[in-house]
Amino acid sequence: MNSIEEFYSLDKKPDYAEAFLEDLSELNSRLNAFLNISKISGQNYPFSVKDNICVKNVETTASSKILRAYLPPFNATVVERMLSKNFDFLGKTNMDEFGFGTFGLNSDRVPRNPFNEDYVAGGSSSGAAIATAVLKYHIAIAESTGGSISAPSAFCGVVGFTPTYGAVSRHGLIDYANSLDKIGLMSRSAKDIRHVFDIIKGPDNYDSTCIDIGKRKIPESETQKNTIFLINQINGFLDEDVKSHFSGLVSKLENMGFAIKTIDFSLLDKAIPTYYIISMAEASTNLARYTGFKYGSKNNEFSHDYNSFFTESRSNFGTEAKRRIILGTFVRGASVKSRYYGKALKVRGLLISKMKEILKQGFILSPTMPILTPKIEDANSLTPMQNYGLDILTIPPNLSGFPHVSFPYDYDKGLPMGAQLISDHFNDYSLLDFVENWENAFEYKFKYNLGSV
Ligand code: GLN
Repeated sequence: MNSIEEFYSLDKKPDYAEAFLEDLSELNSRLNAFLNISKISGQNYPFSVKDNICVKNVETTASSKILRAYLPPFNATVVERMLSKNFDFLGKTNMDEFGFGTFGLNSDRVPRNPFNEDYVAGGSSSGAAIATAVLKYHIAIAESTGGSISAPSAFCGVVGFTPTYGAVSRHGLIDYANSLDKIGLMSRSAKDIRHVFDIIKGPDNYDSTCIDIGKRKIPESETQKNTIFLINQINGFLDEDVKSHFSGLVSKLENMGFAIKTIDFSLLDKAIPTYYIISMAEASTNLARYTGFKYGSKNNEFSHDYNSFFTESRSNFGTEAKRRIILGTFVRGASVKSRYYGKALKVRGLLISKMKEILKQGFILSPTMPILTPKIEDANSLTPMQNYGLDILTIPPNLSGFPHVSFPYDYDKGLPMGAQLISDHFNDYSLLDFVENWENAFEYKFKYNLGSV
């Protein structure tokens, strides 16, 4: 039984009116999962929403000072669809500002790993992953541009599902990079993800990139569903500890009957520069709208001095956002754009066709992150380039719009570890089938179970 079914079959529901909210607020003051918490009826299954997705009349800031006090006048399509199926909105979850980050540290309130508070929770959808790891009955609506669902899911020991690009409407999502952004889900069970994915996916009049994946899907062969490819080139990027845990997973999958094959993917090391050029170029254009006029907080009233007005308003961006505005504006500048942005688009095309060749024959599997969960202080001392480099395994499927899922597969010194499975476009459900199968063989551990009866 999945947890949504279990919740509705309970004779007595958890006390959502008082004790639960008190416990959640207390824990939240340490872990910083939620930016705001709403009262819920207790009769319906609760869901949380990453803070870059609009919920009508609920402060939505994408974790940025520049959007403080912004109250969207409408619900994002995903939120509207959840409410129409009587799910209860529980709150907005913490994230790296505008989605810029891998460890949650580009947020004013540092998210902490629920398994050990000295460690990172991952990012950018940090709050969504923490909420999923601490709440018994809950599903998180999150978003990934370049790994923001996979990374925190792996560090917090939950299932994080990023659908095919375009499977879920982006209407009401605060854009980071439009050609990469995907709304997805985090849960403690692949069955719950399937249930909710069925509700939120599908065409939307407000998003012309949104499609019906069922209509596009090409039936898979049995060999394709039973074959898992390991990319040779990833070995050069993995920590020794990660390598040994991961080889344990590979043996288990072999015992479960999967055919494990290795394959070359020589373009792997091009994924990071390609992604960061494209995502920063798009981010810098998206952030141009926060001027203090139509969008964005203003520090002072406008006095017809445009330069000082914009400068003051835009000083509300955090350091990483400023870095991306500068680099993104540079790479698409008229004199250099064919050297950077144009080249990145070409490499992106190559990456997609090479990955597709592999995915036509089976899944691709790797650890989700190349390192063990870092301590907050260690992640804080990484340079931006070191930080970007750690996205090496999560970026390829994001850059190419392939669906992928991160699932917990082991624990190291009490901290969870995740592996990431990628499938061909529109084969989203095969990933969920795989994780459901895996869940029969693996016991998830959680330190907190808030809301259990
Ligand atoms: N770490 C990546 C970045 O900073 C991914 C973030 C995301 O998926 N939103 O761009």
